[in-house]
Amino acid sequence: MTGLAPDFAGIMSKQQVLKVAVGVPLSRLFDYLPPADGPLPAAGCRVRVPFGRRRQVGLVMDVGASSELAPGKLKRAEAVLDETPLLSADDLWLIRFTSDYYHHPVGEVAAAALPALLRHGKALYPVLEMLAASDAGEQADIDALAKRAPKQAELLGALVDAGGNGLDADTLTELLPNWRRAVKGLLEKGLVTRFEQRSRADEAAAVAEPPAPGPQLNAAQQQAVEAVRGSDGFAAFVLDGVTGSGKTEVYLHLVRDALDAGRQVLVLVPEIGLTPQLVDRLRTRLGVEPALLHSGLTDLERLTAWRRARSGDARLVVGTRSAVFVPLPKPGLIIVDEEHDPSFKQQEGLRYSARDLAIARANHFGVPVVLGSATPTLELLQHCRDGNYTHLSLPERAGGAKPPAIRLVDLGRAPSDHGLSELMIGAVRAHLEAGGQALLFLNRRGFAPTLICSHCGHVAECRRCDSRMTVHAHDQSLRCHHCGSRRPLDASCGECGGAVRPLGAGTERLEEALQSTFPQRTVMRIDSDSTQQKGTMHDALATATAGDADILVGTQMLSKGHHFPKLTLVGIINADQGLFGSDFRSDERMAQSIVQVAGRAGREQTLGEVLVQTAFPEHPFWRRLIDAGYAGVAADALDERRSAHWPPFSRLALIRSAAHRHADAHAFLHAARELVDDADVRVLGPVDAVMARKAGRYRAQLLLQSADRRALHRALARLRPALEADPAARKVRWSIDVDPIELF
Ligand code: ADP
Ligand code: ZN
Repeated sequence: MTGLAPDFAGIMSKQQVLKVAVGVPLSRLFDYLPPADGPLPAAGCRVRVPFGRRRQVGLVMDVGASSELAPGKLKRAEAVLDETPLLSADDLWLIRFTSDYYHHPVGEVAAAALPALLRHGKALYPVLEMLAASDAGEQADIDALAKRAPKQAELLGALVDAGGNGLDADTLTELLPNWRRAVKGLLEKGLVTRFEQRSRADEAAAVAEPPAPGPQLNAAQQQAVEAVRGSDGFAAFVLDGVTGSGKTEVYLHLVRDALDAGRQVLVLVPEIGLTPQLVDRLRTRLGVEPALLHSGLTDLERLTAWRRARSGDARLVVGTRSAVFVPLPKPGLIIVDEEHDPSFKQQEGLRYSARDLAIARANHFGVPVVLGSATPTLELLQHCRDGNYTHLSLPERAGGAKPPAIRLVDLGRAPSDHGLSELMIGAVRAHLEAGGQALLFLNRRGFAPTLICSHCGHVAECRRCDSRMTVHAHDQSLRCHHCGSRRPLDASCGECGGAVRPLGAGTERLEEALQSTFPQRTVMRIDSDSTQQKGTMHDALATATAGDADILVGTQMLSKGHHFPKLTLVGIINADQGLFGSDFRSDERMAQSIVQVAGRAGREQTLGEVLVQTAFPEHPFWRRLIDAGYAGVAADALDERRSAHWPPFSRLALIRSAAHRHADAHAFLHAARELVDDADVRVLGPVDAVMARKAGRYRAQLLLQSADRRALHRALARLRPALEADPAARKVRWSIDVDPIELF
């Protein structure tokens, strides 16, 4: 065989090629030669590479012996940033899996999986400036030195005491704040040496108090714990129990098992800020300090927590969505709390479901995953029916608390402007007089959702979106909740100059109406407007928990896992938003949000009550919810989805595009449609998004549907590179959303 040119043969036999994931929106790895000298980086190491006219931090995914590029075209990586792999083979598997499943560029997945500081090329462990006494320093006469230069003597003494390892600059600053002035002389005399060292040890987090005892498990909890204990390798468990049924107690037992076995546990939660109680309970009951990963951390805090998980020092890791990517060298158990929560799905960029990736990861690791919720998603319930996952139910509230009764209030045809019916006001009064607390739930912030002209009926609209402006009272503004634009409140109608008035109620208006109806009571509003400043959410929740606010007014925020001991009444002000929704998930969503909010009522020994205001009390949804609860609504909805071939009986992917010109958004999707050529995949659209214009861009979408998941993925795998290469793509912002949770 003489076919190979000599230099090419050289590459084939000797030269190794790095397959590097670079954080750019292209679905491929890029080939580089390793740096000319130094050891060959292994998969999982970061490298600095030239990319176009810039430099990028990339992640070595693989090391191969050949490249499709001609040898002369291969560039060299400039530097290797990690001596040993930052990520393990398991971590790289997750990055690949996520990229393949969500059809998202692998370099962007890698970037999403790393803390910002590592993504930007910083060292895993900080480099410390170290000082130590030299041999001459060890021998020096410190007393003699003290007479001439007391500060130098003090510093040298400290270094001699510290021994050969020396001290780092931060520690020295704590001991001797002005040591830098003294060190110069010592260096000149050769009594001290200076060097750099990577810090290896993360400060061990203070161990919490010894574990506090918990209640004896009831039979259902015991059964749930045994079921998970009995699993061998991977198994998925849906822990289905109303709020207060003792799911957290089940978690605590399982976490303790895993920790006792020397394994790590990952707990995913929707929002840590909203569930401080869960973190506190884990800490006090298990006696370990969890590593927390959430959006409220500084970059350095995030890196430290990530590093503790990676080294295995952190046995318990609690985090929100992106924590699903954290390295876990000794995994034993994964828990997803409130698995139904939409925040587990990222809605921009890499559109992944942390819940689904948690399941995939548990499967890869061969460990159990427990998915807890009072309102499990239909996808999971169907998996239980099919026998893929195990359904564990906690049918009763633990500790004997009774579930609240749900009652409907007919809003009739003329709801009052502030949104409160007489019946609701009467119920609030009765509960307050009985010493209880009331929570009124309205998923709409601001004063009123609409500003209307009393004369001509004109409504104030956003100039950049197809939407109405919301009236905000406290700063007298009109705001668009879709694009964030804001302008001063109109004094009169922009069309006819007539008088304008706010129509309908948001949380601000509700708060005002309640305060004037109950002037002696404390009314507290909790929504994203009232809790913008850091710490205010925490304070508000503490006040509410202590029972120091009589009436709470809030949005969705207040429906999450929080426990208010004195709360006995939950009022749902406007339950009709989802009754006639166009999304096939409307019923599921609506039942979830009502059951979740209802779960806030009557958790201790007091009986709770839930009042739901609706203009459509005859709607069959209500009968079903009241008679058969969430499980009844879920069973009906599953039947409907089966006959309509919606998920979980089919698989979906949505291709979205947005452009300044309507025609561009559509042309791109028409081209995409032509590229899908698979008998097993149905293509619907393109159509305008429900809000066709948002923030000045026209939005359209194309829906791909298939009964066969593999067929859908096959089609997407062909489509993605073709779209990346399509010149029309430059005129639009586009994305692929696999398993979308919002269709419109
Ligand atoms: P969930 O997580 O389902 O909302 P929790 O685990 O928080 O439920 O339990 C609700 C309340 O009941 C807590 O105060 C908890 O301490 C208590 N509890 C849980 N299990 C038991 C039990 N077996 N016996 C007595 N009290 C219990
Ligand atoms: Zn807008």
